[in-house]
Amino acid sequence: MEVFLTSPWVPAEIIRAHGHRPRSAWPATPNRASAVPEGVCSFAQSLLSLAESHPDAALVFTTACDQMRRAADAALARSRSRIFLFNLPATWQSPAARNLYRAECARLGRFLTTLGGPHPKAEDLLSVMIDQENRRAALRQFIQRHPARLAAEALAGFYSEGIVPTAPPTDAIPVPRGIPVALIGGPLLPSQWSLFDDLESTGGRVVLNATEPGERCLPPPCPIPSPEQPPLPALADHYFDHAVDAFHRPNTRFYDWLGPRLHERQVRGLVLWVHVGCDLWRAEAASLRDAFHLPLLTLDAHVESTGGLRDTNRLAAFIESLQ
Ligand code: SF4
Repeated sequence: MEVFLTSPWVPAEIIRAHGHRPRSAWPATPNRASAVPEGVCSFAQSLLSLAESHPDAALVFTTACDQMRRAADAALARSRSRIFLFNLPATWQSPAARNLYRAECARLGRFLTTLGGPHPKAEDLLSVMIDQENRRAALRQFIQRHPARLAAEALAGFYSEGIVPTAPPTDAIPVPRGIPVALIGGPLLPSQWSLFDDLESTGGRVVLNATEPGERCLPPPCPIPSPEQPPLPALADHYFDHAVDAFHRPNTRFYDWLGPRLHERQVRGLVLWVHVGCDLWRAEAASLRDAFHLPLLTLDAHVESTGGLRDTNRLAAFIESLQ
């Protein structure tokens, strides 16, 4: 069965090990969400449209934000048997939060067996973990060597179908130009990838994609547990320890992840990508300015597309100010 994940912080390995097909919600959300009520995040709303348009698939929502919880409530009211709400702890510094996360991974496994998947043996999960890790390693290499739009397409292919593109010879890769900027924020959907082109056409270049699913969502290499160790707690701990997101309290891990990368890549400006109705990411604008002392432009995102001419003009003015 297809199982859509609405967050990068739920291990797809668990779904694969239970014989289902993990797919991520970002590339699959309909380009046109149903009318979005005022104050509602268009991405969260689009997940409801996704649930409706895939009646034979299951969806895993999380408690990462209130909007997502509300979307999950609405989806559960319509179809309880194929919707799973994963309790993603907002805190991460206590053993209780870690134990909750581990318990949720185990509960997800039980849910997947109710959908007809077999209960996997430890070696089945281990072999999926190794395979997934190999794919991630190839993806990391691809991202390092390719411009941001191609990297975003590769990430979408990996999260959606598990596909990792093969890298062309190094000399086939065009040398990127433009003022280096970091793109930070919530979900960036395929219908919104023209943002990369808009940035380039205005003289900028994305050197760090910290949106969802960007580089921020790729955990570092997962140590493979020895055959004597149960693999599920090791997998759960790895995701728990390396989730980098705005919903955490405190969200210092996000800033600790961002800081060295902004420095290494000589980023000169930040573009904050915020879905209309998303207070979580919007609230980061002031903190990001304070933390990194870099100029910041906030762009409002709608599910359908980027903001058109108005945003292009704002981007052009922003990039010009960084010259
Ligand atoms: S974009 Fe923001 S409000 Fe929408 S689901 Fe993500 S975190 Fe929640």
